[in-house]
Amino acid sequence: MNRLTGLLCLTFAVLIFAAAGPAWSMHEQGKFHKKKNSKIEIVYPPGAPGIAAHFKSRLGINGKSRDAGSLHQGIDIKGPNGQAILAAADGMVLEAVVDECWGPTISIDHGNGPDGGKIIALYGHVGEMLVEAGHEVKRGQLIAKLGDNQNRYKCMAGVRHLHFQLGREYQTDKSDRWGNEYFLEDGRRGLNPHLYWVDGVRKVTCFSPAKIYPADYLAYPLPCDRQ
Ligand SMILES: [Zn+2]
Repeated sequence: MNRLTGLLCLTFAVLIFAAAGPAWSMHEQGKFHKKKNSKIEIVYPPGAPGIAAHFKSRLGINGKSRDAGSLHQGIDIKGPNGQAILAAADGMVLEAVVDECWGPTISIDHGNGPDGGKIIALYGHVGEMLVEAGHEVKRGQLIAKLGDNQNRYKCMAGVRHLHFQLGREYQTDKSDRWGNEYFLEDGRRGLNPHLYWVDGVRKVTCFSPAKIYPADYLAYPLPCDRQ
């Protein structure tokens, strides 16, 4: 092999490597994107506790499959015993009751959302409840704390967390109902909370007393003070 042939071989080798390289990395990028896409679109501000079970997830907070056909109708956020739970917007407490499966749960009428439809929020699986039916609440107000009751109520699946769910229609027929259907007529058709954050779609917005909020959007129901 003379010097020219050697050079040509080397050039071919480089070309083949270069052609193969991008194909491989595009494939990897594609995988990364797909994985990223299932979660990313949610932007968390610094210190915001992450969502452990997402809206419409097929998995429960304990990582196991949910009952057949039941998609998650809210978002789940874990916290320690005593974790503060905040009102996501101004509103009126509809109920603060202990559901046999959900445990202590607060429902709040937050008035109309930016789309003109009513927003009723469920703050489910809490411990101590600090508000009662009929109370007016302000955005960011401490309404409850998470408790040490995750093994007492079946719907908590042994994991201490807040279940935050939105709906439009208050359930007035309480007979023989439990869980989201006790509180909401559309309990099995939850609204996507990521459409309603103050900072924009999928942009979790933490409450800060210094910030001015438009009335019809929501703030995150936990304070953003996690390290
Ligand atoms: Zn949940």
